[in-house]
Amino acid sequence: MSVLVSTNPAQNYVPLGEVTVSTLAKVTEATSRAHMAKKGWSSLSVKERIELLKPIVDAIFAAREDFVQLIMSETGKTLSLSRDEVDRGAVDWLMENAETILAPQKTCDKPGETHEIWYEPFGVTAVITPWNFPLGEALKSLISTLLAGNTVIFKISEECPLVGQKLGEVFTKHDFPIGVFNQVYGDGSVGEALTNQDVDLIVFTGSSAVGEKIYKKAADKFIKAHLEMGGSNPGIVFADADVKSAAQIMIDARFQHCGQICDSMKRLIVEAPIKDDLEAAMKEILESMTLGDPTKEETDFGPLVAERQVRLAEAQLQDALDKGARIVAQLEVDKSLKGAFFPPTILADITPDMRVWHEEVFAPILPIVSFQAETEAIALANDTIYGLGSRVITADMDRAKRVARQINAGNVEINQGSRWLPCNPFGGYKASGMGRTYGEAGLRELCQIKMVSAA
Ligand code: NAD
Repeated sequence: MSVLVSTNPAQNYVPLGEVTVSTLAKVTEATSRAHMAKKGWSSLSVKERIELLKPIVDAIFAAREDFVQLIMSETGKTLSLSRDEVDRGAVDWLMENAETILAPQKTCDKPGETHEIWYEPFGVTAVITPWNFPLGEALKSLISTLLAGNTVIFKISEECPLVGQKLGEVFTKHDFPIGVFNQVYGDGSVGEALTNQDVDLIVFTGSSAVGEKIYKKAADKFIKAHLEMGGSNPGIVFADADVKSAAQIMIDARFQHCGQICDSMKRLIVEAPIKDDLEAAMKEILESMTLGDPTKEETDFGPLVAERQVRLAEAQLQDALDKGARIVAQLEVDKSLKGAFFPPTILADITPDMRVWHEEVFAPILPIVSFQAETEAIALANDTIYGLGSRVITADMDRAKRVARQINAGNVEINQGSRWLPCNPFGGYKASGMGRTYGEAGLRELCQIKMVSAA
């Protein structure tokens, strides 16, 4: 019996606890239970499913402080961001709107005929989630999938098994129908074993590299894969922007959660006349921020999630420096800090062959490039395999919307940082995604669409 040990990346990887890794037999057993429960769960109304999920959701948020501590200690997320993550707003939105969104929908009025769309579940669903929002990403996928009438086998990232375990305990302790929620633990090999099972749908959030493997697996099985993947969001700042406020928006957009957010702004594209001023303003802000113990209220940067992420970020940074990048600003990591700490860095003199430009950088590194013409800015923004989000800052709203139309991404935020809301669909173009989460589209994605006409 092998175990998965969870460690604290802010405290020299001290062990926090462990879970048992699911064997193939356990994964198969979980899938069989999900199959047995499928008919019962799908035949309930959305309202009945909501009633059964309500006490679970209430219990999760009643244990808010436990989740905050687990998120912070397993992933190194700062106290304030860990608190922000354990917020029930998004889940409540799903619970409050699912009945309307998934109700039969009339498509046209013809005398003596009815034409309706019915939203029906796919069935048994493998739900696989990442570590950067251990609770948030898990709840998003689980609650949406269950509300849509699917049964689930859930696997959380190997970096945060204790958050997963706590979540699983809530389902087990409540009177939730047997087999509707099932859980397995382990790394990618367990994820792979899960996607090899007889499942009807895969709901995956994680990197594009793993998403691609899952998409191929789903193609072989001829089932749907709903994929929310990586990003390398561009942020364009035009010369008519207020430099100080643009600098703050872009610092927040890049460096929150040490840059470990799919939707972070990962490439800054600034109009040449204000490049130096923007660099200087961003340097000033970065140098006023604190890196250290994530459990302290005042800390802006804790550690990255794991040693392997530090090694990757170091290689991406070194590659840029070797190819001629210039450090605009960099925080120091105090020698007393032991763990996955990495120095937040702003870089200029970037060329397209650098890894920081063409790879997703899941760490606090910001490359800056400049442009002369609007068309050049758009070309730079789209110079990526990804297409999750983007930001545009300009005083000219006509230009902002013209640029927004030409950016190949699922989200464009104009003159602001992240204004993520659960009523809006979230997801990406290109290698960033297949399908959307949240909003009307997000719930309907998890359903089969049946057209029923009658005379
Ligand atoms: P990851 O792809 O390494 O792992 C995600 C999950 O997939 C984990 O549970 C992992 O164990 C599992 N897995 C790994 N290999 C697998 C395989 N072959 N088959 C099945 N499952 C497998 O991603 P990560 O490092 O956990 O998370 C960071 C990535 O997630 C970043 O790329 C980030 O942009 C992305 N992300 C995207 C969104 C979004 O909504 N678009 C949200 C959060 C994170």
